[in-house]
Amino acid sequence: MNKLLPLLCLVFLISCNQTKPDAASVLAGGHWIDLTWNYEESTVYWPTNVTFKHDTVFYGINDKGYFYSSFKYSAEEHGGTHFDAPLHFAQGGRSIEQIQVDEFTGPAIVVDVTAPSAQNRDYLVSKDDFIRWEKTYGQIPEHAIVLINTGFSKYWGDKEKYTGTLKTGAEGVAELHFPGLGPEAAQWLMKERNIKAVGIDTPSIDFGQSKDFMTHRNLCAGNVTAYENIADPGQLPATGSYVVAAPMKIRGGSGSPLRILAWIPDQTNLKTPKP
Ligand SMILES: [Zn+2]
Repeated sequence: MNKLLPLLCLVFLISCNQTKPDAASVLAGGHWIDLTWNYEESTVYWPTNVTFKHDTVFYGINDKGYFYSSFKYSAEEHGGTHFDAPLHFAQGGRSIEQIQVDEFTGPAIVVDVTAPSAQNRDYLVSKDDFIRWEKTYGQIPEHAIVLINTGFSKYWGDKEKYTGTLKTGAEGVAELHFPGLGPEAAQWLMKERNIKAVGIDTPSIDFGQSKDFMTHRNLCAGNVTAYENIADPGQLPATGSYVVAAPMKIRGGSGSPLRILAWIPDQTNLKTPKP
């Protein structure tokens, strides 16, 4: 019995140790928001891409008498809610499995450009939009995840309204009309604000009418990642949210489907400003 005493004391001490917070208490006092669209047949892809496929391998009662289901999917990397790795537009850039966890997690800001985007489907988000945001909320913090709210999420489900066209192929590409981030603004965010990543609620970080994809090229050359087709960033406050944007870990991938979540603490009552 004497030999067992130290062991019993240890077990007692471990069971009494309530000081270490568990995950539930760390995340109490806030809530998660899902910024991800479903992957399904109607999911928006680039007009030259093959759309998402989800086919049945088996569904039903099998020969052993129990239910079983399994499906297979195929998808291009850059459709639906997805992640762009630097390799997308930078030769020798990092591929998706090389992106580190602390690069796709962190504090986010949301910049509201819904008003100018409603006026002009080809709106280019400029440095001035960010300067205006900073007048209300202070300087964009270093390593921020910058989310752009164009308001185009409300058109998701209506491909023509969301992208500007129902056409496919090169003809469709020519008729894409949706807002994007201007190349100079992208450069400014990287050089002057040292941001971590940028996300937008349209099919591309470059606007629909871009012919040279300079915003993508600038971001990829600067090793900054991007999220596209995110679902309604207008649900988030302008500051105070924490984003987890986890890409599928495809070795050598230039991009991938993305599950993007935002944690919003309860005390955050800030609203996204309307410019
Ligand atoms: Zn992409």
